[in-house]
Amino acid sequence: MERGMISVDQWSERSQAYFLTHLHSDHTKGLSSQWSKGPLFCSPVTAKLFPVKFPEFDFSLLRVLEIGSSHLLSLVSPTTGSKTTVQVTAIDAHHCPGASMYLFQGEFGCVLYTGDFRWEATSERAKLGKDKLLNALGNDKVDLLYIDNTYCNPFYSFPPREVAAQQVVDIIESHPEHDIIIGIDTLGKEDLLLHISRTLKTKIWVWPERLQTMHLLGLYDIFTTDTSLTRVRAVPRYSFSIDTLEGLNSMRSTIGIMPSGLPWVWRSLEENADSPASFSICHSAGSKGSTSDGLHVDRCQLNSKSSSARRYHPYAYSVPYSDHSCFGEIEEFIKLVQPSKIRGIVSSSFSYTNPLYHFSHLCGVSQLPEQLGKKVQKEEENARTVQTKSAIGCSEYRETKPKRDRTLKAGNLRVYRSRISVLRRVRCGAKIVEMDNID
Ligand SMILES: [Zn+2]
Repeated sequence: MERGMISVDQWSERSQAYFLTHLHSDHTKGLSSQWSKGPLFCSPVTAKLFPVKFPEFDFSLLRVLEIGSSHLLSLVSPTTGSKTTVQVTAIDAHHCPGASMYLFQGEFGCVLYTGDFRWEATSERAKLGKDKLLNALGNDKVDLLYIDNTYCNPFYSFPPREVAAQQVVDIIESHPEHDIIIGIDTLGKEDLLLHISRTLKTKIWVWPERLQTMHLLGLYDIFTTDTSLTRVRAVPRYSFSIDTLEGLNSMRSTIGIMPSGLPWVWRSLEENADSPASFSICHSAGSKGSTSDGLHVDRCQLNSKSSSARRYHPYAYSVPYSDHSCFGEIEEFIKLVQPSKIRGIVSSSFSYTNPLYHFSHLCGVSQLPEQLGKKVQKEEENARTVQTKSAIGCSEYRETKPKRDRTLKAGNLRVYRSRISVLRRVRCGAKIVEMDNID
């Protein structure tokens, strides 16, 4: 597709139409309430949630695309100046509420942009999405696939979300006298919370802005901001730290649960005396470590445990509940689509792998001329270097040290926000992503 026609989750370039896959902050970087560059297309749920994030936005620029339906856009070719028609189909990405893939078909061929997505083999929604995609494709072949490569590494193998959700319930049930805190983002993991609520017949505390989002999503009776009504609280992910949990446990027994595809480990004070104790991400690793209280963390085990819940600290568990596809699901998707070319939409310092490294053999046309092959090899070497460093020191993937930069009131307790930022680069337009949305 020519430059200057369509942009997806990219807001800096001049285009004739802009598409937003979903509202996570790494996909809206550069978008603001002052937006005036052109029409912005998104799903109905994203449009409904849009004012929460961009209250001053000129909503006459929003164009709502129903999931599963196709629309024709009349654009102008920047090179020839002639009119051209583009068909776009929005497909359920099953990532967070409102998340959509976009299939573009026109004179340029066929381009599929997944945005962040998770299509589990067992998911009815994914099956419906697959049918819509194949139906929209007809006899066309995908010439270029932009794919969510967040977990494009064989290390990452997650169970379906309903299985991981039950793991969370099991942890909560095994601590009947404890308060529970669960780290979540500003959007996403609603199905997990609903499963907990229905199974345990309990309300779930959320912070006031999150309650507003729940109400916009039509979830009225399950969530509350009254801490006296429940022992289960969903808290902002950035407030989820050892400091928080130790503070809470000095008053009342509390267990923390982090639902995430990332392997979370406890990072002790002694590992970095300048930083508050916090959870951190440990990528595939090969060393053993011990924390200040003698808790041994066998990092080798991470390679085989990305699919199970783990207790990393006396107060904390991680559960592999992910809204991104794991490696096997990415592979299945590429087999389904059989694109001529693939590009990953995300590269990051913690898990970046060019999808070509693993999946070039699934492309219809070889995408590995000598130069690109060398480039891929170099990127992989860089990725391995990062992994090796982290294996030695578990220094993981911080752009900056965690800071006690803010505090918030949660259940009348001061909770320190320890924020971890992770640098992500995007191959088609750079973007910086923070940990909030790498789930
Ligand atoms: Zn996302």
